Amino acid sequence: MRVVVQKFGGTSVNTRELRRKAAGKVLEAREEGLSPVVVVSAMGRTGAPYATDTLIRLALEEHEDCEPRNLDILLSCGETISAVVMAQTLASLGVPSAVLTGGQAGIITDAHFGDATIERVSPERVRSFLEEGRVVVVAGFQGATEKGEITTLGRGGSDTSAVALGVALEAEYVDIFTDVVGVMTADPRIVPEAQILKGLTYTEAVEIVQHGAKVIHNKAMDVAREYRIPLRVRNLDDTGKGTLICDLKTLAKEGLRIISQESPVYSIAYRPGLAQVRLDFTEAEEKRLNIFSVLARRGISIDLISLFPESVAFTVEENKGELVRQTLEKEGFSIRLNAPCAKVSLVGSGMADRPGVMAELVEALTGEKVEILQTGDSHVTISCLLWAKHMERAIQVLHRVFQLENLC
Ligand code: ADP
Ligand code: ASP
Ligand code: MG
Repeated sequence: MRVVVQKFGGTSVNTRELRRKAAGKVLEAREEGLSPVVVVSAMGRTGAPYATDTLIRLALEEHEDCEPRNLDILLSCGETISAVVMAQTLASLGVPSAVLTGGQAGIITDAHFGDATIERVSPERVRSFLEEGRVVVVAGFQGATEKGEITTLGRGGSDTSAVALGVALEAEYVDIFTDVVGVMTADPRIVPEAQILKGLTYTEAVEIVQHGAKVIHNKAMDVAREYRIPLRVRNLDDTGKGTLICDLKTLAKEGLRIISQESPVYSIAYRPGLAQVRLDFTEAEEKRLNIFSVLARRGISIDLISLFPESVAFTVEENKGELVRQTLEKEGFSIRLNAPCAKVSLVGSGMADRPGVMAELVEALTGEKVEILQTGDSHVTISCLLWAKHMERAIQVLHRVFQLENLC
């Protein structure tokens, strides 16, 4: 049996017309002799009746807090509804299908409600429906613990459901259908002239996604890289092939360029919703370094860390800012909190060996009166922390300065 997993994001199943197009992709796969497993997200974005954000609001309007376990039960319904509706679309076209929730599809997770990690996938039930000639429609974004508790996989997690099922079923590839034509040089909502990246190695795609490009869920990308399963990021309307993410050999076989071998910068990613924490040390060494263990004990992860003998700066999720302030003030530290901030990252290759990249970045942002609050770099990225209000302008100017519109 040749299996393919086809994942349809919320904006690809939001109307009957779109669901028909999605079903058309399923039919095409069947005509090619493939056995499709369909993974769906909740239908639509904020405001749509069964969208994830609508369900969250429904709970929080009743009471400001919702127990994570309860919230997961509620949110899983968005994808479950979508799966049944998609099965109805398939039925209207005469295609037999079987609907499974994440737990029924064998997706077993830990009990970290709201951001659960898949521990294993037992695909027997999916496989037996496929063997009956049915299309299996799985509700994305969710799983179940060994004890049968319903969990969700973190925002954007349907991609991870699709990739995990693809691995367990030894699928030929996983198609991610979304509202953009593929992975691009920048978010096309911010940079309309952004170009599609037709081929990416796993490593290149991981970098783009880790630095914030939400076009693929970061856990999905990690699993795809680990198990070397090819992904195609595509749009329902697009006649092109989208972005193929695979290993070097397959890229070469498909006649696609290895972008990181050609360009020092090939994408700009961003992460909004951050706060910068800064504090000057006045205390002895042991007490200074204590701040990291204090935050770790509170389960607060920190990023973009710059540690100096007399001060430290780092970022946290903006919604953790006040918790960090309270936690550190209790320890006798007084901090400065800058928010809302965003991190904008140039993703490329060999940055450390090219002094000109940093110079160009600083010149471009300063020229646009964008204040750089902090920077961080690796061999393949340079990130800068900015005020959120400057984020879009910074992405646009960097895209222009590094001439990414001419890249492909
Ligand atoms: P879905 O609901 O289909 O999972 P998402 O909203 O999760 O869709 O992801 C698609 C979105 O990712 C696009 O609408 C786009 O705004 C955003 N995006 C961010 N960075 C990029 C990028 N580099 N290339 C393409 N899209 C990107
Ligand atoms: N519906 C979920 C979300 O909005 C999962 C997903 O779309 O992948 O985050
Ligand atoms: Mg998504």
